[in-house]
Parts: sequence; C-alpha cells; structure tokens
Amino acid sequence: MGEIARAVERISARIREAARRCGRNPEEITLVAASKGVGLDRVREAAEAGIQIFGENRVQEARAKFLESRFLEENKSAAVHLIGPLQTNKVKQAVGFFSLIHSIDSVRLAEKVAQEAEKRRITQPVLIEVNVGEETTKRGISIKEAPALIAQVRKLAPLSLKGLMTLPPPTPEPEGARPYFSMLRRLGEDLGLNRFSMGMSADFEVAVEEGATWVRIGTAIFGERKKEQK
Ligand SMILES: *Cc1c(COP(=O)(O)O)cnc(C)c1O
Repeated sequence: MGEIARAVERISARIREAARRCGRNPEEITLVAASKGVGLDRVREAAEAGIQIFGENRVQEARAKFLESRFLEENKSAAVHLIGPLQTNKVKQAVGFFSLIHSIDSVRLAEKVAQEAEKRRITQPVLIEVNVGEETTKRGISIKEAPALIAQVRKLAPLSLKGLMTLPPPTPEPEGARPYFSMLRRLGEDLGLNRFSMGMSADFEVAVEEGATWVRIGTAIFGERKKEQK
C-alpha cells in the first residue's frame, strides 16, 4: 500500500472514531481531500484509495487538473469542491464544474453565481463562508451579517444552500479551534442549517465532535505543501 493510501485509511479511521466518541454516525462526515498544488498522479493515487471529493483553491488549477486531464470522465464517482475564494471574474468557469462551492461570502458573489447557474439552467450547491474569528485578514461574512446573507441566498432559486463553512484563526492546539467550530454550528442551527464544512489536518477531530459534515484535509493526506501553495 502506498503512502497516500495509508494516510487515507488512517484519517478515515480517526474520523470514524471521533464520530463514535460523540455518538454521531460516521457516514454523515465526508472527507474532502484538499489537493491544491498536488499533481495528477497523486490525485489518482488518492482516488484509488477511495477519495471521491477533492477540494481545490483555484478555479484554473482545478479545471486543468480534473477537467482537461479527463480525470472526471475516468472517475465517474469523483467530484471537485471549491474550498478557496471565488473571484467574480472566475464565476463562469466555476459554476457547474464544482459540485459544491464552499466560499460564498457576499450578496454580490451569490448573485453572480446564481445568474450564471440560471443561464445554464442548473442548480449550484453552495455553502456560506463565515469569518467566525472576525479576523480582518480573512474572507468570509461576519457572524453579525451572516443571517442577512443566508436569507438573501435562500431567495436565489438557482442556488441550493447546503450549509456553512469556516476557517478559524490559527491556534497552537487543536482544542483552540473548538469555540469557533461550535460558534459556526450554533449560528447554522439557529437558522435551520445543519451541515458544516470545518476542520483541517490539525483539528478535524475537534471539528467532527462539534458537528462537521465535511472535513477538508490536505497535509495529512498528501504531505507538506511548498510555501507558495499555502
Ligand atoms: C489548504 C486548505 C485546507 C487543508 O489544509 P491542511 O492543513 O493541509 O489540511 C483546508 N481548507 C482550506 C480552505 C484550504 O485552503
């Protein structure tokens, strides 16, 4: 068994254990392999090891890797999520290609995505990204403004709002992320949303305990990235 397959197995087991610890059904949790900067050969290895969802940060890189290479044609059960920011000038290439866009954080962006989806007569599944740490350097809507954005997105028929996503402030210990994950879950549940994209290599078990339904894991599967691909 290759290194990637072993890592996938290890992480899947840890997700299952974390779910059982808090009485959750492990099937509720989807492992999204964050494959930014990872070449096609290693992506194929991950797919062979059972990964079905890949998370990418850049629209162009994702299309080249998964579409132009025909990877998606050869791997019918695979899909790609956009976990990084979406610029309005990339919306055309993103809609319909990503099976879930995790990073809707403004009405303007939501409307652009809806417009494009409508043009193609498709429904685009999305998550709203919330900046739970209220960090000025981070994208995502503030907790205070989130309810209004959620209401707006719900009105846009070509969008299907599946839940909320967050990227908490960095903390030295995984436990440090818990209050942020829990904040996201409470915000969602108050507004009738119960699916959450939260947790990365360092803190996914805490995220699962706090209700994550997608965990986005890169380093723990593929190894360390080069600096510029952070
Ligand atoms: C890169 C990335 C991840 C994965 O981070 P790791 O620490 O490598 O697991 C998750 N979410 C987003 C938005 C990312 O950009």
